[in-house]
Amino acid sequence: MTDSAPIAGITADPAAAPKVSFVSLGCPKALVDSERIITQLRAEGYELSRSHAGADVVVVNTCGFLDSAKAESLDAIGKALAENGKVIVTGCMGAEPAQIRDAFPDVLAITGPQAYESVVGAVHAVVPPAHDPFVDLIPPQGVKLTPRHYAYLKISEGCNNRCSFCIIPKLRGDLVSRPAAEVLREAEKLVKAGVKEILVISQDTSAYGLDLKYAESPWKDRSVRAKFFDLARELGDLGAWVRMHYVYPYPHVDEVVALMAEGKILPYLDIPFQHAAPKVLKAMRRPGNQEKTLDRIAAWRAIAPDLAIRSTFIVGFPGETEEDFRFLLDWLSEAKLDRVGCFKYEPVAGAPANALGDHVPREVQEERWHRFMKHQQAISDRLQRARVGRRVPVIIDEAGPTVAKGRTKWDAPEIDGTTYVASCRPLRAGEIVTVKIERADAYDLHGTAVG
Ligand code: SF4
Repeated sequence: MTDSAPIAGITADPAAAPKVSFVSLGCPKALVDSERIITQLRAEGYELSRSHAGADVVVVNTCGFLDSAKAESLDAIGKALAENGKVIVTGCMGAEPAQIRDAFPDVLAITGPQAYESVVGAVHAVVPPAHDPFVDLIPPQGVKLTPRHYAYLKISEGCNNRCSFCIIPKLRGDLVSRPAAEVLREAEKLVKAGVKEILVISQDTSAYGLDLKYAESPWKDRSVRAKFFDLARELGDLGAWVRMHYVYPYPHVDEVVALMAEGKILPYLDIPFQHAAPKVLKAMRRPGNQEKTLDRIAAWRAIAPDLAIRSTFIVGFPGETEEDFRFLLDWLSEAKLDRVGCFKYEPVAGAPANALGDHVPREVQEERWHRFMKHQQAISDRLQRARVGRRVPVIIDEAGPTVAKGRTKWDAPEIDGTTYVASCRPLRAGEIVTVKIERADAYDLHGTAVG
């Protein structure tokens, strides 16, 4: 999810409050960082500006994952300097300040990811807060940048894995999990504030709590372990849809899938498999015993037949042969994943994979990407068509005069398909309605509200 436009402001007394223009780039995890920084600034009386020009300072939360994301971040910094002149940079790219300084020596301050206090301190240095406790009331759940009815819930920072194409552990450090009670308190606040769907995110959700040795923390009348299963079960009791992102196929995921079968959490797993050929997985240094993944997927489907699996893959990784690539296509035919994204391998500065030989030529990458997409499209088509005729709950994202846009339990916001819902009464965003699915295409479903 990238958004290079300044985030729309929140209105208050325009005469008194210092104004910050905020640009949030990168993944949902970066978006959560942006929310925390903005919540803090709002609590101190700052306003968000709708444009760089009208702001006292601009904060750019950068993404440094791929070279293309870095280029987008540098663009956003350049634009902010041209339109405003007072710019603070934070986020993943801030972990390597030299390249920002080289390109833009006039940037006022650079802080790394999760450095909330440093960013806020840098804003204070440029434009001090004009705090007034009577006017600076903010909602207890903080400021959300997602629509009101869904919210991302970050359960940990960092990652203990060392995938060869990734520099996230270098940028964000090893896994640091939040205690279970802290996560649950935040989730409960969100639900009380009207959130209907919670999207659980981290770098490796299934590893949650490992660093805490699964320590218990007090929640209501009991203690809850910082463990994927325990957290999923408790979140499932809060009365909202709960969707799990960035899960790896470890054996203990089976018990979480059982919660899906019970209807406690959504029957949805976002698992970035990235490849299937053993040799490529090894070169990628991927976590989980991915060679046995097909068996694992079959076991999950036996537990929860309605389970939807979404994944992403990289084609053209260094050393990937035609044989490896065909292995991947055959694997996809067997795995029958519901939603799939595919990227062509791109070297990331500082990643160990750059040292691997045998880089796949661009035209071969391109050709494999097209074959991959065509192959998967036929699989997705069949799965989508199998849903026609079913009556399923759909959460409405966007109201419309005759047709509203929503999502089934099998679709996450921003990355998966849309369900177009015809209805004889107006539907509200956040409402969950039963929809009879009448038509399907490769990505989207179409139906009528029946209750
Ligand atoms: S699991 Fe691998 S790709 Fe994901 S953040 Fe950790 S090291 Fe990077």
